[in-house]
Amino acid sequence: LGARLHGALNQLSRASVVDDRVIDALLKELCAALLEADVNVKLVSQLRTKVKAKVKKSLDEAEKAGGREANKKNVVQKAVFDELVALVDPGTEPYKPVKGKTNVLMAVGIQGAGKTTTCTKLAVHYARRGMKTGLVCADTFRAGAFDQLKQNATKAKIPFYGSYTETDPVAIASLGVEKFRKERFDVIIVDTSGRHKQESELFEEMVAISLAVSPDMTIMVLDASIGQAAEGQSRAFKDSADFGAIIVTKLDGHAKGGGAISAVAATKTPIIFLGTGEHLHDLEKFNPQPFVSKLLGMGDMQGLVEHMQDIARSNPDRQKDLAKKLEQGKFTIRDWKDQLSNIMSMGSLSKIASMIPGMPAGMLGEGGEEEAGAKLKRMIYITDAMRQDELDSDGLIFVSFDKAGNPIGLNRRAKRVARGSGTSVREVEELLAQARMMAGMAKQAGGANGWMSAMQKMQ
Ligand code: GDP
Ligand code: MG
Repeated sequence: LGARLHGALNQLSRASVVDDRVIDALLKELCAALLEADVNVKLVSQLRTKVKAKVKKSLDEAEKAGGREANKKNVVQKAVFDELVALVDPGTEPYKPVKGKTNVLMAVGIQGAGKTTTCTKLAVHYARRGMKTGLVCADTFRAGAFDQLKQNATKAKIPFYGSYTETDPVAIASLGVEKFRKERFDVIIVDTSGRHKQESELFEEMVAISLAVSPDMTIMVLDASIGQAAEGQSRAFKDSADFGAIIVTKLDGHAKGGGAISAVAATKTPIIFLGTGEHLHDLEKFNPQPFVSKLLGMGDMQGLVEHMQDIARSNPDRQKDLAKKLEQGKFTIRDWKDQLSNIMSMGSLSKIASMIPGMPAGMLGEGGEEEAGAKLKRMIYITDAMRQDELDSDGLIFVSFDKAGNPIGLNRRAKRVARGSGTSVREVEELLAQARMMAGMAKQAGGANGWMSAMQKMQ
């Protein structure tokens, strides 16, 4: 999906004029990509109408303001971005567990959706953030369910509760939650059973457990590979056991993840995490804007910075350096060069590369590692071709301005760097844009109220 969407936007950026033909071609490709990913036909058609209307309105406004083609491209790109975000963002905030009180979470979903695995991943996630976290196995339906949870929990070093003899899931859930509550656990996660001989029995059981433990958040676990069936399934669950958040699992396979988007639209419930593998750490936070941004190859700067800090943790000196730069709100091209080298040395390039703006998101697939590595290398060649004063600048040194002080394009320096590095001026421009965005992030991050300081307080 990502590769195709990114390709469509690339075509837009190569077009010399933005006319109806170009926009229609973009919309056609966009819709084809969404349908291929199994997004509901009705949703796709609505999206098309909305993007079209928005683009037309914005272009008219841009025209009146004497807009250049480059500006119009931004207008179109923004309209596409906004509507895709709207697709995965129901506009409601999910519950967020807080330290210092008991937060009860309950997972529901059909058998095999990935509940037990996801419950353990979630437990690890919260435990790593300093919250005392416990798991309760309220699945007495599936043979070996308690053993499975026990095994997972032991591996993850998470305290657990369950029973081999008690057959009433409601009793186990109540006892488990009570036990952990008394012991002042911050997060208690209740895993439930998936299937009964009759569906109504399953729903009754869920309602009974829910009444017994009063969860702060019920999470519907949805297997991405069921495609469009996600909509009907989530509606059925919503009607009986109302849930407040969705986790989509198995997005690492050849799943048609788009169906899950239809579930979000149908139940107006936010996705909070994505499951991307069988291992304990294969859980990614979901946020609509960065998700779409990555999908379109526009990167996820904040995610990138968080990731860079994670890496820097294994090298305290580097972490201090980066933290200091961000705090001071300063970031030069040289700093970006250093970060690129760090990224090159960390492995798992394709995942990280998709966070950098201008990197095709399709790299997550086969051959993605090589492609990401090659692209990162070209970016480093560009910085290698720069002079000292250029590296120590914020990048404006490469830009020409008209008499009124408006930027009109890249100057001779940029052309020299492109030639010297065997790349194109376009790629130089991309790198400058990345460095500029990092500088923007640094500004946002710095100071006592910046998110840098907020993140440090959290650790
Ligand atoms: P439950 O019946 O809903 O509790 O589902 P389980 O947690 O037992 O998971 C069913 C199967 O799906 C197991 O083999 C898991 O390893 C696998 N699984 C769960 N989440 C993921 C995921 O995100 N990616 C992949 N590839 N497999 C997953
Ligand atoms: Mg299970």
